[in-house]
Amino acid sequence: IPQALPTADAIDLRKKYVSPSLSLHYSEYKPLHIVKGDGLFLIDDAGTHYLDCINNVALVGHSHPRLVQVLRQQLANPSFRVSPDGTLLPDDRLLEDYMAKIFRTVPEADFDVILFLRSGSEANDLALSIAKAVTESTQVLVLDGAYHGHSQATMCLSTYKMNQATTDSTYKIEADAVIVPKPDIFRGQYKDPKTAGQLYADDVKAQMESVLSQGKGIAAFISEPFLGTAGQVPLPPGYLQTVYKYVREAGGLCIADEVQTGFARSGVKFWLHQTHRAIPDILVLGKPMANGHPISAVMTKSELVKKFTDKHGPHILNEFISDSLSLALANTVMDIISDEKLQENALSMGNYVLERLKILKDKYSCIGDVRGIGLFIGIEIIKEVDNVKVADGVMAELLVKKALLEHNVLLREDGVDHNVIKIKPPITFSKDNAETLINAIDRSLHSLTSS
Ligand code: PMP
Repeated sequence: IPQALPTADAIDLRKKYVSPSLSLHYSEYKPLHIVKGDGLFLIDDAGTHYLDCINNVALVGHSHPRLVQVLRQQLANPSFRVSPDGTLLPDDRLLEDYMAKIFRTVPEADFDVILFLRSGSEANDLALSIAKAVTESTQVLVLDGAYHGHSQATMCLSTYKMNQATTDSTYKIEADAVIVPKPDIFRGQYKDPKTAGQLYADDVKAQMESVLSQGKGIAAFISEPFLGTAGQVPLPPGYLQTVYKYVREAGGLCIADEVQTGFARSGVKFWLHQTHRAIPDILVLGKPMANGHPISAVMTKSELVKKFTDKHGPHILNEFISDSLSLALANTVMDIISDEKLQENALSMGNYVLERLKILKDKYSCIGDVRGIGLFIGIEIIKEVDNVKVADGVMAELLVKKALLEHNVLLREDGVDHNVIKIKPPITFSKDNAETLINAIDRSLHSLTSS
C-alpha cells in the first residue's frame, strides 16, 4: 500500500485546496480513502478491498498490467512527432493502428474521420458545433433528464444538472434547446413497449414541427442510446431509429453520445446504438477510451467536417490533443477488449446479473424495475403511496450505504429522483464478483425491509 496521509488530514487537505464541487462520495457516512486499484477492486489506506460496481471509466479494470506497461514505455518516448509542415502528430504507426481498429467497430456508418479531444464534454461541444455549422441551424433536441457535459454549451443542454441547479443564472437551459420527453416506459407517459417507441418518437416529431413553423431550423438531436445519468433508462424499441429518420427529414443531424455506453459495455454490440439499428451522423466517445487516461473523440464523415472547417477555418486544436501516449493507451484498451473477450464477458455477466436481480425483484417490493443490457444495469427503487408507485430515493441511499459499510461493495444512486441504483462495473466483472454484488444487495435489502 502506498504511503498515504491519515484520512482526516487528506479530507482537510481537500477542503482547503480542492473545489467543493468535487464532492466526496459517501462522505456522509464513510469517506473512502482509496490509495490503489487492482482489477475490480479499489483498496483503501487500511488495505480493505471494495468491489467497484460503478466505474465505467476503468473499463478493463483498475491498473491493468498491460496499460501500466504501455504507460511506462510510452513515457520514455517523445509524445509528439512534428511533421514537416510543423503540425503536431502522434506516432504514425500508432495512429494507423488505432484507425484500423476503431473504424472496424462501425462498418455500417461510413465514418472516415476522427477528431481527438480530452473529455466527453469537449467532444459533445464539438459535435454540436459541427451540426450547427453543417445545418446552418441552431435548435438542438435533447432528452429531458439528459447529461452531456460540463462545458457552457453542454451544461445548458443538460436538464439533469439544471433540475438540481440553483436559481443562479450562470447556467440556463439554452434558448436553442428543445427538451423532448424522456422515453421512459417504466415511469413515463407511454408504458407499452410495443407502442411506446413510436409514440415518443411522434412527440419529438410534433415538437420539431412546432420549431420549424417558427421559422427556425433543426441542427441536431443528441442522446445516449441508453440513458445513464437520467436513471439507467433504456430507449424503447424502434424509438432511436424512428427519431433519427424524423430528424433527418427535418434537416438535422443525429448525435449519439456513447461516453458512458460505448466500448463493448452492452455486450451485444461494440456500440450500444448499434443494438437499435440506428446509425448516427456523429458518434461521441469518451470516458473509458483509454481506461481513465483523458482522451475522447468525435467520429463522423469527412464531408461534414469539411463543411464545418470551410466555415470556421481549421478546428482549433487543443495543445494536448493527438499525443502518442493517449493513443498508445487507447490502442491497448482495444487490444485488451479483444484479447480478453470482454464484449462476450459483458454480455454473459450482464445477463447473469440481470437474471439474479429479477429474482430479487420478486422478493422485495421496493424493487420496482430491473433493466439493462450487458454491464449497464439499473435497479429502480420505489415505494407505494396511496396505491401509486413513486420513487424512493431514501431507500436507494440506504441500500448504497449498507452495501458499502457491511459488504464493501461500491454502488451509487442516480437518476432524476436519485432512486436508481446504477451498476456499470469494469467489464472484466466475473461470476464471483456477481455473487458478491447480488449477496450484498440481497442481504442489505433483507435487513432494511425486515427492520
Ligand atoms: N456525456 C455523458 C453521457 C456523460 O456521462 C458524461 C460524463 N459523466 C459526459 C458526457 C461528459 O464527459 P466528461 O466528464 O469527460 O467531460
